[in-house]
Amino acid sequence: SSSVLTVRDLNVTYRGARGPVHAVSDASFDLHVDECIALIGESGSGKSTLGQSLARLLPVKTTAITGQVTYHGRRGPENVLTFTAPDLRAFRWRECAYVTQSAISAFNPLLRISEHFEETARAHGAFGRGSRTAAFELLESVRLEPTRVWNAYPHELSGGMRQRVLLALALLLEPKILILDEPTTALDVLTQRAIIDVLTSVRRRKKLGIIFISHDLGVASELADRLFTMYAGRIVETGTTEQVLRRTAHPYTASLLRAIPSLETQRDVTSIPGSPPNLVTLPTGCPFHPRCVHARPQCTRGHAPPLDLVDAGHGSACHFAGNVQAQTVRERKQHV
Ligand code: ATP
Ligand code: SF4
Ligand code: MG
Repeated sequence: SSSVLTVRDLNVTYRGARGPVHAVSDASFDLHVDECIALIGESGSGKSTLGQSLARLLPVKTTAITGQVTYHGRRGPENVLTFTAPDLRAFRWRECAYVTQSAISAFNPLLRISEHFEETARAHGAFGRGSRTAAFELLESVRLEPTRVWNAYPHELSGGMRQRVLLALALLLEPKILILDEPTTALDVLTQRAIIDVLTSVRRRKKLGIIFISHDLGVASELADRLFTMYAGRIVETGTTEQVLRRTAHPYTASLLRAIPSLETQRDVTSIPGSPPNLVTLPTGCPFHPRCVHARPQCTRGHAPPLDLVDAGHGSACHFAGNVQAQTVRERKQHV
């Protein structure tokens, strides 16, 4: 299917006090129309930075972004990284909505939730008769009580409620791209379920491309067509959800999978030894080598391994991807 977003060689660096922080390195991928990609990885691996750079939400003063991000929208291909301020106003929300992890900053503290709906819709020429009904339906679909939140101020709601209000607000405008940063973390199971359901139904109907950032592999793999694993700012494994879970080809993804409790395998949970690297002084060679059980001398030298294909549509940034995959396939068989 066609792409709504094309990302090539994206690099994002924060100007940190102790030198440049390489938060995203050499990211290249396509997001297809009505596809859901889940980004998984430990805290600090660069998931939010990647999502924010695609929506151009990172402050220019403190970040440097290079590479290409092309949006294939109503007006043909456009370079997101060279958007001017008016371009960005038109792009955000209407074309690309980002639902943040800490939703407070996305609201004006002086406006009620109802006014956020009215303002956002009006600014994009979308508020008319029936909008209130549509807003109420969307709020209900994310398990919020419309009458309770409608007249509330942002600070009167919990973080999780604010995030769901933002999601409803995003869905009202029907963007082409929706980036969700940890939308189900810290929610009760019923609410998680509601969010998965609303995203699943709206995605196909509205041809919505979704980037779903999550710590929760269970939720991510239920919703996503493809899984991307990030480590130290790099996308180290990409593939269909099935490929990444069943034919895992990167040792880091394999350790993430071992770190979740699994009903299927009844295996003990093992946490990943060591900690993520410092993004100011990254190790040479493969950034995962200090923690990798498969590491060999060549892993410590040269550049980070490129994301090469092990199967059609399945990439792994590991020198020994084939061996790792053979081992995980053997392991999965034993546990079935
Ligand atoms: P989490 O799962 O905790 O949300 P993440 O994968 O979303 O983590 P990011 O928030 O993208 O990770 O952070 C990537 C790296 O960039 C981290 O090492 C973080 O400390 C660093 N970082 C984030 N924001 C800034 C900033 N404004 N200035 C300097 N470094 C930053
Ligand atoms: Fe491990 Fe080497 Fe593969 Fe890196 S390249 S993940 S260190 S085996
Ligand atoms: Mg984050």
